[in-house]
Amino acid sequence: MEMKRQNEDPLMTPVMYLKGVGEHRARLLAKLGVQTVLDLMELFPRTYLSRLVNPTLGELQVGDMVSLTAEISWVDAKPTARGKKILSVGVNDGKIGLTCVWFAFPPAYLTLFKPGKTIWLSGTLSAFNNQLQMNHPDFEILADDHEEDSFWKSRQLLPVYPLTEGITQNLMRKLVLSAFSSYADQIGENLPAFILEKRQFPPRRDALQIMHFAQKTQAADQARIRFAYEEFFYSQIMWARHRVFHEKKEQGIKHENHQKLTTALKERLAFELTSAQKRVIREIFADMCSEIQMSRLMQGDVGSGKTIVTLFAMLLAVENGHQAALMAPTEILAEQHYQNFTRLLEPLSLKVVLLKGGNYKGKAELKEQIASGEAQIVLGTHALIQKDVAFHRLGLVVVDEQHRFGVEQRALLAAKDSHPDLLYLSATPIPRSLAMTVYGDLMVSQIDEMPPNRKSVLTYVRSDRKFDTVLSDVKKELDKGRQAYFVCPLVEESEKLALLDAQRLYDYLKNKVFTNCTIDLIHGRMANKVKDEIMQRFKAAETQILVSTTVIEVGVDVPNATVMVIEHAERFGLAQMHQLRGRVGRGADQAYCFLIAHQPQSSMARERLSIMSRSTDGFVIAEKDLELRGPGEMFGYEQSGLPEFRFANLVQDQAILALARTDAFDIVLQDPQLMRDEHKLLRKIYLSKYAKREELILY
Ligand code: ADP
Ligand code: MG
Repeated sequence: MEMKRQNEDPLMTPVMYLKGVGEHRARLLAKLGVQTVLDLMELFPRTYLSRLVNPTLGELQVGDMVSLTAEISWVDAKPTARGKKILSVGVNDGKIGLTCVWFAFPPAYLTLFKPGKTIWLSGTLSAFNNQLQMNHPDFEILADDHEEDSFWKSRQLLPVYPLTEGITQNLMRKLVLSAFSSYADQIGENLPAFILEKRQFPPRRDALQIMHFAQKTQAADQARIRFAYEEFFYSQIMWARHRVFHEKKEQGIKHENHQKLTTALKERLAFELTSAQKRVIREIFADMCSEIQMSRLMQGDVGSGKTIVTLFAMLLAVENGHQAALMAPTEILAEQHYQNFTRLLEPLSLKVVLLKGGNYKGKAELKEQIASGEAQIVLGTHALIQKDVAFHRLGLVVVDEQHRFGVEQRALLAAKDSHPDLLYLSATPIPRSLAMTVYGDLMVSQIDEMPPNRKSVLTYVRSDRKFDTVLSDVKKELDKGRQAYFVCPLVEESEKLALLDAQRLYDYLKNKVFTNCTIDLIHGRMANKVKDEIMQRFKAAETQILVSTTVIEVGVDVPNATVMVIEHAERFGLAQMHQLRGRVGRGADQAYCFLIAHQPQSSMARERLSIMSRSTDGFVIAEKDLELRGPGEMFGYEQSGLPEFRFANLVQDQAILALARTDAFDIVLQDPQLMRDEHKLLRKIYLSKYAKREELILY
């Protein structure tokens, strides 16, 4: 089936068969996501370099972001005191000179830059000793006249493609040109004619060519807008269908607010609910008490009190004679919920059970209690979605840390009974501006307020040269009986840059610094069981220090841990650092976070560190995170169900999103099944892109 389809569409020809590619280059191109001829045609240039409009250095100012071409005049590699090398390359535009500097660079750079060659540079202009300078610029050494393809030689604007080792800009341009000269005729349309007309978009074939061969950047951006629209449009068709599906009345369970169990719980709480918690409980109850199936996401920072809100929702289901289930991503989290729930529910005499994976004594009996309905509240891990687990009148499904589960797994749990209400929890705040694209028509509740009297974590950025002072600060906390986390970037064997990895840090701290302390190491390559045991020991305060890679991100609650040290903080994304910092400050004591920054740092990294030291609000940080990333760089959100946008920039293209959304909803509200003649093409393209995803969302 798959083969046949490939034969039918020439654009699906594997890129290997394109002139000039072959097996070896095809493997390299695959690293860029290029598998077929169409992928190559859709490989959007990162930027464009202009040969004509070229600012002269004299016009530029320090702080400007600039792209320019200049001639290399000299190259110099100086050893530093600490045994590294700094590479400097001098360039000039005939009048004024500029020095490009690399504090870290691959060895190949030493022979790459040759005086006399023309180089294209892009970066931020700085100054050092009264001399213009650019640190770690983006660059391309331009081909000499005789090396360059005659087509590209005549162009004013050259596309700059993302590259991978073994593929040069020149080669990439050649391949793109070759793809278009053989296959341009085959490019079909993806948008209905009435949309093209309404929105004044060029046909797809033209737009693709403009993207690569534009003579003006403005034209290229116009073409890009068409593709951004296209991506948004089809994702919004899906959300429009989601809405139509979920508004069918007969789908859901209509709970009634009897105020029995929920009131009993409220009276027993040792604290007053925050107004954000109260608001979100109202939102959830309103959904659960309507006949429409609830499909709601609850977002809130770590420690904002999502658990208690969840418990209210579960009690509402239970007092209506339904079962409520919660699925957590790890055993330790499931157990944590189990302990909290049994403690809080003790006087209400409800049956709460915990179902874990694997085979153990008493498991058959637990499954029996779940199937019979004797168990009213069911907590568990992936064990809950196994085939042999049956529920009884399941009224509410809660998925904790929802982004840790695949869409399939979430759907499987929901499909265990007919249309239970669905509540997803997330401690990764998705920026408000993104919520509509990521979650479309899921209703989103935000707990954007912390419980009172919570001390916010004091955050300091420290240079790695001041590491000793950080260690003595950590020691003071340990002496008070507190615990500390040290987090390193991922251990990667192939990593050439000398990262101070978790293992080395562990050895150093254990043998040289905290010789009288208990200390453990945890990393992603360990078996889950081993990881759980290490976490349990830390939770029980049997270990004082935990050195880890980023695996501790999950919501494990250790109130006695008051220090978080993040090594090579300049390498972490904002969202990730914020998650890590959320591990501390969960108790009554003042907590600290030290961000250890090494040189060199990009200006972006500096900006991230500065934001971290200024703000502890997850929503603010998420917005900033988004601003600082480009499209296709949505690291950390992959599993959130976020469709991959290759052209659209989620920050800049909000206006285009709004247009696409209006158009998509208009169409689907009139023709939900897309059966009309004029929607034929739309239906075909939509199904080819979204059939699988839709299956999972419209359960
Ligand atoms: P989350 O799941 O959002 O990370 P939790 O629900 O685990 O956060 O809550 C963190 C801590 O705050 C818990 O110890 C909880 O008992 C406490 N807590 C929750 N709500 C309040 C509140 N309104 N006032 C005081 N403490 C609260
Ligand atoms: Mg939680």
